[in-house]
Amino acid sequence: MSVKKNWKPATELVHGGTMRSQFGETSEAIFLTQGFIYETAEAAEARFKGEEPGFIYSRYANPTVHMFEQRMCALEGAEDARATASGMAAVAAALLCSVKAGDHVVAARALFGSCRWIIETLMPKNGVETTLVDGTKIGEWEKAVRPNTKLFFLESPTNPTLEVIDIAAVARVANAAGARVVVDNVFATPLQQKPLELGAHVVVYSATKHIDGQGRCLGGVVLSDKKWIDENLHDYFRHTGPSLSPFNAWTLLKGLETLPVRVRQQTESAARIADHLAGREGIARVIYPGRKDHPQADIIARQMKGGSTLICFELTGGKKAAFAFQNALDIVGISNNLGDAKSLITHPATTTHKNLAEAAREQLGITGGTLRLSVGLEDVEDLIADIDRALEKAA
Ligand SMILES: *Cc1c(COP(=O)(O)O)cnc(C)c1O
Repeated sequence: MSVKKNWKPATELVHGGTMRSQFGETSEAIFLTQGFIYETAEAAEARFKGEEPGFIYSRYANPTVHMFEQRMCALEGAEDARATASGMAAVAAALLCSVKAGDHVVAARALFGSCRWIIETLMPKNGVETTLVDGTKIGEWEKAVRPNTKLFFLESPTNPTLEVIDIAAVARVANAAGARVVVDNVFATPLQQKPLELGAHVVVYSATKHIDGQGRCLGGVVLSDKKWIDENLHDYFRHTGPSLSPFNAWTLLKGLETLPVRVRQQTESAARIADHLAGREGIARVIYPGRKDHPQADIIARQMKGGSTLICFELTGGKKAAFAFQNALDIVGISNNLGDAKSLITHPATTTHKNLAEAAREQLGITGGTLRLSVGLEDVEDLIADIDRALEKAA
């Protein structure tokens, strides 16, 4: 494992980080153990002193979790990673470990609901100043900078309206200000967009989404350079315990093996469905990264390797039509998850974004008719037939 091989992503995702036990198992072993036995008292002392390598306690590190972290590092091109029990544990760790009371944070306002709560509620409560900006306008990031600005935070494409933020341009503003950039890369997946290559300093994932991709477990991961993780995350992880369970790490390792195949197929189907929906009667607009009419099509061409497995669209009939459409769907399930093998539809205004004030929702372009479709692995012809039938019923 110490030999750095020049593997392409699909190979890394099957073999990266594998540590075989003395039995030479084909599949990664699940080390469902909270702790480890030392041969001698001297060995225990040496391991606690850090003079001897090895595992101590699964809150600190665990072999199965370590394999998942190493495979993610190989994929992302990151020096180090820490896996977490959920995506929000990863976001919270990355944000909270980047600032202290008196610092200032600038964040794009189109954020996953719980991320927005950390920025708008938790940080100010703990003495951190925060400013929300329209992330697509570079001038707003520049204007928001203060002498104490330490952190920029964004997700791209955003949830649910799939806006795309120019990560390289934001990173330039941050570097000039002496601030670090944390990117929540869930919607793009590690295959379609590489924030670290674009100048971001830290990348976070909810592994619950495409990385598992089959609706089985929660998980998350923070990736960055080794120095930042050693200095900022290491002690926080040891002493606050957001650790990923070894069983879930194993599930996510299996998910990574098929990630490229799934994401490629789901993106191909999503592109077809987006084209099918665009310009149809009853559809006010379709937002799909990968279509030429996407508002940031030029940035997408520069910064992303592919489109998205998600589509955002708006029905002209508002909430009534959106509800009738969802209720008429046969294959597509009504759910707030995404990136799953099963196609899922969400009405953001009444679910994931219901806690935002109406004005804030409008600012994000979320109306009563807005729907977010996460395209799964079903046959695309069946999905299109399901959608067409539901659109007719909603009309
Ligand atoms: C789902 C999600 C999260 C939170 O992840 P959990 O695994 O549900 O805790 C954070 N950011 C984005 C963009 C997400 O989609």
